[in-house]
Amino acid sequence: MIESEARIAPSADPDAVNRGVAARLRALRRDRGWSLDRAALETGVSKAMLGQIERGESSPTVATLWKIAGGFHCSLTHFLAEPAAPAVVGAEPLVRRARTMRVRPASDDMLVAPLFPFDPALGFELFELTLLPGYVRLSEPHAAGVVEHVVVTSGRIDVRAGGRWRSLGPGDAIRFAADRPHGYRNAGSDPATCLDLIHYPAQP
Ligand code: MN
Repeated sequence: MIESEARIAPSADPDAVNRGVAARLRALRRDRGWSLDRAALETGVSKAMLGQIERGESSPTVATLWKIAGGFHCSLTHFLAEPAAPAVVGAEPLVRRARTMRVRPASDDMLVAPLFPFDPALGFELFELTLLPGYVRLSEPHAAGVVEHVVVTSGRIDVRAGGRWRSLGPGDAIRFAADRPHGYRNAGSDPATCLDLIHYPAQP
């Protein structure tokens, strides 16, 4: 148990994560020229909550970040990846280690490691997700055309897609249209991990 606790411990400094989220949300809203009212309308996250996040007073859950990313039509990576993370494919192979980059926004029961941040040329981002026991999330639809590929790497994860839950174990994978309601849960008593490759349609 102790080993498994250590294995899933978040490695990124939560304050740094919050500051990064706050700065990126402010910049994104400024670039769009959106008021807080407009941003609340687009994301479905309250104006008060958006203001608190921008001021670094509130630590959003992954679910909230996903709603914000959806409203702004940007990737989740945009909020979570450290600014230094190289997004563009270069000559040098890029080695990433999930254990060094797991973040746990808002002490949520989900940890996220942005293994390969979104690259517009490739159209996808790849996360390792750790679902702690009891975690359940029903996700709002992402932007039109977004497709998720979930591959379970340890434990069991139930994925809801196409109107029903399916139980997946290590090595099992599912692909689904993520522009409609879907969900994830860990009904077991140990942490479970998966890889989630999120593909975004080409921007017109
Ligand atoms: Mn999703």
